[in-house]
Amino acid sequence: MSVRCYFIPKHIEDRICEHNKDVASNPVGISLAPKTSNISNELRSLRQDVKPEVQDQKISSRLGKNYVYTAKNRQRQPGGLIADSMNEATASKDPNAICAWVLSDYFLRFCRDILGRSSFDGRNADIKSTVHYYVCYNNAFFDGTQMVYGDGDGKIFEDFAQDPSVVFHELWHGVTDRTCGLLYHDQAGALNESLSDVFASIIMQWMNGETVDEASWLIGERCFIDSHNVTSNPNGISQAYALRSLIDPGTAFVNHPYIGTDDQPQDMDHFDSSNEDNGGVHKNSGITNHAFYLFAKSVGGFSWDIPCKIWYKTITTPGLISPNCTFVEFAQATLTSATDLYSSTQPIIIDKLRRAWSLVKIL
Ligand SMILES: [Zn+2]
Repeated sequence: MSVRCYFIPKHIEDRICEHNKDVASNPVGISLAPKTSNISNELRSLRQDVKPEVQDQKISSRLGKNYVYTAKNRQRQPGGLIADSMNEATASKDPNAICAWVLSDYFLRFCRDILGRSSFDGRNADIKSTVHYYVCYNNAFFDGTQMVYGDGDGKIFEDFAQDPSVVFHELWHGVTDRTCGLLYHDQAGALNESLSDVFASIIMQWMNGETVDEASWLIGERCFIDSHNVTSNPNGISQAYALRSLIDPGTAFVNHPYIGTDDQPQDMDHFDSSNEDNGGVHKNSGITNHAFYLFAKSVGGFSWDIPCKIWYKTITTPGLISPNCTFVEFAQATLTSATDLYSSTQPIIIDKLRRAWSLVKIL
């Protein structure tokens, strides 16, 4: 079994459960929160770190197959097959099945057309997705072989399969596992999480044709129900709730009635040193996420061009980073990649990258 990341981290699930204790009558979905949290905890306990696999360098022009199943709101995988083609997905008239199929297809096309990579494993693996997992399940995960999506409680979260950042974030863990193989704890774990947020952002921007200035740089915007109120980030831009922000870590959700306020740090002065969540993997990822945003913003244009090439080269160059890589080692490795790629043609790129790492106080 591969690394298990849950899109909704344990400390957020815990806040939902804590809130549940404090209110006498809850909406049905909220009252199920402790149960769905227990499912995630049981599965988390099975987590193992995996060794990177040797890459198959041959790029297939054929996309991997893409299958969507339904658990019919029971706790089973993969469940009954709904679709193995776009036509079948559309014919199902199930928005979660359609989105799971289409977004997985975008992921496969991004890998092939932008990265020259055959699926998440580099060997043209099929993508299998199970939608409607359990009842009101407030999470989504990639178990190393397939994606699993809950429908959400309908109060805080909904339809994880319809959120592109969920699909791309979770599938990217499959790429990280099989390239640099970052461990899932402490700074390496936060880098592992950050890579999933960074590449989810890149793939969404590519899918939408957005420049770095046009993009929201938010993770979990679609699955987060924003009917409670609307926050305004420090740049004065109104935004609905999201789970994480690469522009402004710590502002994705503020004073949310059930889960409070986003507590991701933006720089090393605010690094979370607690042992929660495998050493703060979902919090400290905000620091390296922000560095990527600052760098991409300073370069301008499309994130899937220069910034993507540097990050991808860093995780796919054999031996460049170790599985227990620190933030400083990762930053230095990106500078090595940038030097290899741009020292003779655009040396200013290297200066911009060094400046981004400096702004988050890693270098
Ligand atoms: Zn993750």
